Amino acid sequence: MRQNRKAFAAALAVAALTLSACGSGSADGVKVADKPSFEAGTTMATISAAGKMKVGTKFDQPGFGLKGLDGKLAGFDVEVAKIIAGALGIKAENIEWTESPSKLREELIEKGTVDMVAATYTINDKRKERITFAGPYYVAGQQLMVKSANTKITGPADLKANPDQKVCSVTGSTPAEQIKPFLADPNQLVLFDVYDKCANSLRTDQVQVVTTDNVILLGFVSKSDKAFKLVGEQFTKEPYGIGIKKGDVKFCEFINKTLKDNEAAYTKAWADTAGKVEGAAPATLPEPAPCS
Ligand code: GLU
Repeated sequence: MRQNRKAFAAALAVAALTLSACGSGSADGVKVADKPSFEAGTTMATISAAGKMKVGTKFDQPGFGLKGLDGKLAGFDVEVAKIIAGALGIKAENIEWTESPSKLREELIEKGTVDMVAATYTINDKRKERITFAGPYYVAGQQLMVKSANTKITGPADLKANPDQKVCSVTGSTPAEQIKPFLADPNQLVLFDVYDKCANSLRTDQVQVVTTDNVILLGFVSKSDKAFKLVGEQFTKEPYGIGIKKGDVKFCEFINKTLKDNEAAYTKAWADTAGKVEGAAPATLPEPAPCS
């Protein structure tokens, strides 16, 4: 009897583990369509038939796209990509992720290295010359991050008077361009390929300011053990889009519809990732722009 009870308890424990494995981590709540069908010749039909999807994202941005030591990716962009893949009948484990630093995003899309990019990617006219954007699915704004003890810099207007305060951003990003009018001279700007290099340089006092979108900076602040803070107001609007091949209007419309149809999953994705960070406002899905 005792033996039986033990066996039963063990079986229960296994069942509980199995259940939690199914519903665990970020894959939970993301619907995967069962054998969806799409118009022949569309990108949706091609990806769905392939049974896998190639997605470009960031690997170094807490809250949006961060690769863990276990090789797994976590963040809002990662979850948004899973929602879109799910609507194509593709499970999260069948997504092939490619690191997509800001400067390389258009090229990765043009070359077909990735089917789409979800990577804190601001929709703008210059980029639209090379690619198409679905979305926006979130609107961020540029801000500054400094060390908590820094009292010299309280916003972009203080940068010109303090040329010794080096400002770090990333090549090919919108913040790297938009900060230029606020600088004393071009040497005040330090550019890397990815933001965690800026955060590390701030930690070691090689730069004094990091600038990019508020929500990206909030992710670094949250991992800094109070060493970093945000200063000043947001001074730009950064509507995030999903980058796809130029002119693929059907895929763009499919992505917009998928996000609208999965608004609950979208809201949950935000709450589970970037929305957890102190200072992050809740996300509401914006109206999509017309696809072109
Ligand atoms: N959203 C801005 C951009 O697309 C900054 C963030 C980034 O570099 O990914 O350039």
